[in-house]
Amino acid sequence: MAGVKSGPTRIVIVGGGYVGMYTALRLQSKLRGREASVTVIDPQPHMTYQPFLPEAAAGSIEPRHVVVPLRRTLRRCHVVTGRVTRIEHARKAVTVENQDGVVEEIEYDQLVVSPGSVARTLPIPGLPEEGIAFRTVGEAIYLRNHVLSRLDQAASTQDPEVRRKLLTFVVIGGGFAGIEALAELEDMARYAVRYYPSIKQSEVQWVLVEAANRVMPEVSPKMGVYTVRRLEERGIRCYLETRVESMVGGHVVLSDGTEFDADTIVWTAGVKANPMLRDTDLPLDERGRVRCTAALQVEGTSDVWSAGDCSAVPDLSKAETDPNATCSPSAQHAVRQARQLADNLIASLRGKPTRQYKHAHVGSVAGLGLYKGVADVYGIKLKGFPAWFMHRTYHMSRMPTFNRKVRIVIDWTLALLLRREVISMGQIQDPKAEFARATAK
Ligand SMILES: Cc1cc2nc3c(=O)[nH]c(=O)nc-3n(C[C@H](O)[C@H](O)[C@H](O)COP(=O)(O)OP(=O)(O)OC[C@H]3O[C@@H](n4cnc5c(N)ncnc54)[C@H](O)[C@@H]3O)c2cc1C
Repeated sequence: MAGVKSGPTRIVIVGGGYVGMYTALRLQSKLRGREASVTVIDPQPHMTYQPFLPEAAAGSIEPRHVVVPLRRTLRRCHVVTGRVTRIEHARKAVTVENQDGVVEEIEYDQLVVSPGSVARTLPIPGLPEEGIAFRTVGEAIYLRNHVLSRLDQAASTQDPEVRRKLLTFVVIGGGFAGIEALAELEDMARYAVRYYPSIKQSEVQWVLVEAANRVMPEVSPKMGVYTVRRLEERGIRCYLETRVESMVGGHVVLSDGTEFDADTIVWTAGVKANPMLRDTDLPLDERGRVRCTAALQVEGTSDVWSAGDCSAVPDLSKAETDPNATCSPSAQHAVRQARQLADNLIASLRGKPTRQYKHAHVGSVAGLGLYKGVADVYGIKLKGFPAWFMHRTYHMSRMPTFNRKVRIVIDWTLALLLRREVISMGQIQDPKAEFARATAK
């Protein structure tokens, strides 16, 4: 009979990142045999453990080891590699486009919306051409090769202007991602310079630009001040309460009138909910996030769930002081919400009551390069080596799968025993160039 569906409940998960992968993992372990089928859709065949991207960029961890293959991890789920371009909840269908442009529709009974966030950009002249974000493993690999190749280029030119530009690296945005990326890449470049006798350490300029009057709002103001002091001691120029006004052709103009040329501009100035959500009939808030209840159900629906960076989930831990507060975009919330979401989804399938998500942010840890860090967890503040050690052990404990944990520990051990690897694999950025030259002759 038309309209009547038999067989297991079809659960579709949009996005296989923190929320999507952890939700799917829990569903596959808790669902009974033919209770439901789970389909995970993501343009990438892997989940990315973003807190390890700075270490991957610095070469302390092999980039492949900071991603978790979805097909191997989600054995009882169906994984679709494609980008969801539309959700029509009225018809209970998502539109998926794969890399070759083939478009398909997938129908669902229960939907989990978890496509995360994208870089929040501003209309700054030159930003689309000159800037690069720091959110994906591809960007981490690119930046590692790019920074090292700038040293190679600078060592091979006599022109002082070109050299200065090649050796100037800018990071815009002093949140967690920006500070960690800056600190790790600077640490790597500082080490690498010893193999370039023609480059003086003082010639390599790292610049941080932050619009607010402090960095890393996730830690206490005192720890933010400590972080800036440590970076400045390393020779990094930190511009706080300063905005970038233009970067056309790599010529950077700051709001305080400072101007300089830079060949590397990393944009880490915040995130916004995935814009794909605008092509859905789901309720969004003023920041484009999916409106959710504390039970992680999308408002006004009984069969759509959401969590993580793309969602506005009430922060019940702040309900007494700020009833409108929503959970911040962090891995800490994403992982815990995923667990609650999966439990609530199963409870609703079985006609049982759901539970509300409540978690107070416990603080943050950040690595600032090898043996350097800052931590503010449960009110305990640590600096330097203990914070760095805590950063590594915490993230190691959180890294999904035993396989990845072992590989990362081996990477760290090798980095401890052998010298840091500082080769630029520049060819990766343009692998066909050599062959194109050969075929042109
Ligand atoms: C460099 C860096 C360091 C960080 N460090 C920390 C840290 O130390 N501590 C912390 O708490 N948080 C940290 N974060 C933030 C944390 O990683 C995010 O809050 C977390 O990843 C959010 O989880 P999510 O599932 O909502 O999104 P994600 O993990 O980003 O997953 C979203 C998934 O959706 C997929 N997707 C996107 N568009 C589509 C589409 N149209 N269709 C289908 N799938 C789609 C993406 O490919 C991705 O796999 C860091 C972030 C970065 C970038």
